[in-house]
Amino acid sequence: MRFITGKGTRPGIDGRGVACSVGLAAFVLGLLAGCTPSREFLLKRSTELGEDKNYVRVLLIDTKERISISSSSRIKISDLSDRRVLRDMNKGSVYFYPERLKRPVAVESWNAPLSVNGTAYRGSIELHSRMGRLLVINVVTMDEYLSGVVPCEISSGWNTEALRAQAVAARSYAYYHIMNGSDPLYDLDSTNRSQVYRGAGFETERTNRAVRDTSGQVLAYNGKPILAFFHSTCGGRTVDNDKVWSGQALDYLRAVRCPYCSASPHFSWEEKLTLYEIRQHLGKKFLGIGPITGISFKKSDGPVNLVTVEHKNGIVRLSGNDFRLLFPDKKIKSLSFDAVKTRDGLLLKGRGWGHGVGLCQWGANGMAERKASYNQILRHYYRGTTLMMIGEKPRGDETRKMARDRTRRVEYARQK
Ligand SMILES: [Zn+2]
Repeated sequence: MRFITGKGTRPGIDGRGVACSVGLAAFVLGLLAGCTPSREFLLKRSTELGEDKNYVRVLLIDTKERISISSSSRIKISDLSDRRVLRDMNKGSVYFYPERLKRPVAVESWNAPLSVNGTAYRGSIELHSRMGRLLVINVVTMDEYLSGVVPCEISSGWNTEALRAQAVAARSYAYYHIMNGSDPLYDLDSTNRSQVYRGAGFETERTNRAVRDTSGQVLAYNGKPILAFFHSTCGGRTVDNDKVWSGQALDYLRAVRCPYCSASPHFSWEEKLTLYEIRQHLGKKFLGIGPITGISFKKSDGPVNLVTVEHKNGIVRLSGNDFRLLFPDKKIKSLSFDAVKTRDGLLLKGRGWGHGVGLCQWGANGMAERKASYNQILRHYYRGTTLMMIGEKPRGDETRKMARDRTRRVEYARQK
């Protein structure tokens, strides 16, 4: 999820590719002559997907390098513009090169996941060439996507109601981006810039069941899916979204008390920061930073939201979140901290892990252990929201609206 840090992640799975078929790759690539996606194609494609509420497009890889796609079953490669089949083959591998892919193509398999650079994914794979780079996009049903997200974002051994709450939050977040995303080719990416998605190889039975149990359910505010941010541990109180990031204050992302996450190992923490370290990391963003002579942290009703650094060559001011993200992932775990001066720098004493906005995952599990339902958990962290089925008729035809929104996104992107 964009801006999110501090959530559990897992290492990549081992490669599963089958033997290479260089001759086949040459054959396929020889057929792929043409141009980059036309406006008509993008409009048609986005409308097709938008009309089918079940599908989500996830950017897996954006690279200048060669990628491989393989399957243990039949593979079909078709031209995405006109659906012409370019190749229908038995199991094997195909290589794609950014500089040689001239038309967008779809790769599908029968009854087996497709393996992209060794990682298995359900659904189909779309390949686009843009600015000399290869974009590898997984087109997958919403629940298959969520089955590959939930176990990456939360411990699959946690209470069932917490897993269900996470599934609904992740589904709401995904639908929000389907309706409001900015890229015409995909809705979300597969890293913690969106939601971590590692495909079929990471699924677990318990998280799959949580996805199935809540299938189609999203949290809505004023009838629309919400931007359901979540994080590991709030440390006692969540944070208003506009105190972390610039932009509109959202009614359903107001701070709430959370007396439920004290079991988290990140509930409280301490970390030393030397002045040299601070200068080194600030230097990544600001040129000409001299030796640091002073630093102050301004809080706004909880989180640090302004950092002022005085150095030999001047003064730098930046938001608390920008300051935090300059450092390695676990160095400054949250924005809820106090700083104490030490001989060579600062001692930070803080609470929680992550940005602190929206659902607190450890708190969700704490509530579930106290017999709260997933609906109660979600409505505690996202105030004023209601649970609804995507496409629920009384609240408007969401699927047609999604199609319109996707089409607008394409038009907007083409005009820019
Ligand atoms: Zn909490």
